[in-house]
Amino acid sequence: KVTVFSGMQPTSAALHLGNYLGAMDNWLKIQDLIAKHNEVSPGHKLIFSIVDLHSLTATKTLSPKELHSNTLSVAINYLASGIDPQKVILFNQSMVAAHSELTWIFNCIASFSKLSTMVQFKEKSKSNSQSISNGLLSYPVLMAADILLYRATHVPVGDDQTQHIEFTREIVNSFHHTYKKKYFPLPTIISSETSKRIMSLQDGRVKMSKSDPSDLSRISLTDTDEMIQMKIKKSKTDSIIGISYDIQNRPDISNLLSIASVTSGVSIADLEKEFKDKQNSHFKDFVSQSIISKVKPIREKINYYQANEKIVRDILLEGSDKANQIAINNLKQIKDIIGLYH
Ligand code: ATP
Ligand code: MG
Repeated sequence: KVTVFSGMQPTSAALHLGNYLGAMDNWLKIQDLIAKHNEVSPGHKLIFSIVDLHSLTATKTLSPKELHSNTLSVAINYLASGIDPQKVILFNQSMVAAHSELTWIFNCIASFSKLSTMVQFKEKSKSNSQSISNGLLSYPVLMAADILLYRATHVPVGDDQTQHIEFTREIVNSFHHTYKKKYFPLPTIISSETSKRIMSLQDGRVKMSKSDPSDLSRISLTDTDEMIQMKIKKSKTDSIIGISYDIQNRPDISNLLSIASVTSGVSIADLEKEFKDKQNSHFKDFVSQSIISKVKPIREKINYYQANEKIVRDILLEGSDKANQIAINNLKQIKDIIGLYH
């Protein structure tokens, strides 16, 4: 049976287009697929989490109020995007204590030198070289615990998480080797071909991120139509005439082409043909309209859930009950394998 696990950090109140096109879009496709499979042969599981413990590693510490409200907002972003609590277990990470317990166990088999060479660690510690926390170093260990606690087989994430999934597979191997017992599956990454890495609107060489200090760098799912138009208008381009896809030499235009292609359903080749001799401003109008067609319906649903917060709190409570049932049972089995008295 298939078990799918994934999550996003509540490092900001809204998800952005990179989160949506790089990960959420696949979550929704898998949700439909698994629901169909479950009708014929039940037992496949889908587990999506708001990973609040991960967000404690953020460079800029969130205030208690922010963290609390961001967590609820990210849950709202999931629901508004189409995540259906009837089909998936949707919960907040810190409400399932076993994530932290399994992280400690994995910390004791994870390689310190490997962790210190991980790309995300190196990038995120650059911006805060004064005080790098142990938590930031240990981020991939917590992620391995998230995935393996449910013995997940598939993990739909963006391209920036590929190295962490490989790390998770190494944890599986070293656990089996250390304790001489096979227990975990080797999880596989699921990533989208066309949008596994959406880039910043201000710099086509770095990925779009919640934690980028510039709001102009990203389109958030809560942005109004006017904000989307303004951000695309101000997005970086180059001085080469016409529109063409060339990641090496034209990263900014290429990023806009990718975004326009996945949001409109028109292939990059067809967009190139159509806008080849047109001005940037014509192309940018098309890009904004095509983003708006995706974001507007989600934004409207976000507004609905924000006005009906109680529904969301109840969904998270129910989700954490279901997640805890699986997690507590699996953690017991893991403790038995290790010899931890319980
Ligand atoms: P932060 O800057 O706080 O790390 P983030 O924008 O990177 O935030 P995460 O919560 O770390 O978002 O990641 C959530 C999911 O979104 C992950 O599956 C990640 O791979 C994916 N993702 C994040 N940014 C992008 C992007 N620019 N393109 C495609 N996928 C992305
Ligand atoms: Mg991230």
